[in-house]
Amino acid sequence: MAAPGENMRVNSDRLWDALMDMARIGPGIAGGNNRQTLTDADAEGRSLFQSWCEAAGLTMGVDKMGTMFATRAGEDPDALPVYVGSHLDTQPTGGKFDGVLGVLAALEVVRTMNDLNIRTKHPVVVTNWANEEGARFAPAMLASGVFAGVHTLDYAYSRKDPEGKTYGDELQRIGWLGEEEVGARKMHAYLEYHIEQGPILEAENKTIGVVTHCQGLWWLEFTLTGREAHTGSTPMTMRVNAGLALSRIVEMVQTVAMESQPDAVGGVGQVFFSPNSRNVLPGKVVFTVDIRSPDLAKLNAMRARIEAEAAEICSAIGVGCSVEAVGHFDPVTFDPGLVDTVRRSAEKLGLSHRDIISGAGHDACWAAKVAPATMIMCPCVGGLSHNEAEEISKDWASAGCDVLFHAVVETAGLVE
Ligand SMILES: [Zn+2]
Repeated sequence: MAAPGENMRVNSDRLWDALMDMARIGPGIAGGNNRQTLTDADAEGRSLFQSWCEAAGLTMGVDKMGTMFATRAGEDPDALPVYVGSHLDTQPTGGKFDGVLGVLAALEVVRTMNDLNIRTKHPVVVTNWANEEGARFAPAMLASGVFAGVHTLDYAYSRKDPEGKTYGDELQRIGWLGEEEVGARKMHAYLEYHIEQGPILEAENKTIGVVTHCQGLWWLEFTLTGREAHTGSTPMTMRVNAGLALSRIVEMVQTVAMESQPDAVGGVGQVFFSPNSRNVLPGKVVFTVDIRSPDLAKLNAMRARIEAEAAEICSAIGVGCSVEAVGHFDPVTFDPGLVDTVRRSAEKLGLSHRDIISGAGHDACWAAKVAPATMIMCPCVGGLSHNEAEEISKDWASAGCDVLFHAVVETAGLVE
């Protein structure tokens, strides 16, 4: 399909102003944002976004999960739309850019198309997925998950926040319960621009991350059973120390991850000791192992090896060991054609880039189940995200938006 000329750029100032205007809604306590899903602040952010979409001549549709779809018409009435977006909701102590950049950059893409009188064969739909963060209503990526058929609508509506309020009730309360059936829309393609939320791009001085995969993961919850005993009066030879087994397993998980390179990661992030007293050997230790890889066979091999070696470690010291899988995503391979479009767009614009794997989950990972999809990433300072101090530069923001603009117009088919 035809592509726009390489001299074309988005309006960097307008993009940045939109980001800063949105950041005024639901301010955090340390310079970031607290605009959690289906709160009054979320409603206010949605209204501001809607007003911008209307001013840009877009037609708003809302589905029964509260996801917003703002359409810029295409020339071919039969052509499926190109969807471009991310999420406006934030963590309770979130930053100004996680998710927000992807929605407002999509808006900037259509604003630039309007400025340049660009016509495309396919419509372009600026998308704000509801409840990506999952901080108030777990799990994360809830609306895109329903859209992709991963969850049912009833399941989503019954999710409760810590106060016991349900997703369904709160969606109605803030006035964003739409009429569209979730997932009824068919997509020609889906593109999402997001901050990296990791340190690689900045460390390597690359402006654009060309996202090829999203990592799959297993969360394995281990329960180790030892014997509670006095730390002073129990001889070393007579201990059944569940804490010792834990420490050997943590080391083993590190070894398994290191021996599964490239791109695999693994570690222990959460541990509960019982009784958790300084002079009692733990009788029980519960902890979770988080392992991730973009390669499903490798991911499953890591899981099998960790479970087998943990059983050996425990039996050698007489500790009981049981494992339960408490979380899982398959890895996602993004559409090679779209990935190539993003890479060529970065090259055409003279921007430094590298292929990268998303270590976090995103709406694009679910969208990839129902459409050709991919992502673009920009660096973030220190790799910091899910933090009020999250920061990106204006130049990074607009460089990735330029790539998004060229990739979207090419995918939507420029009509000369
Ligand atoms: Zn995000």
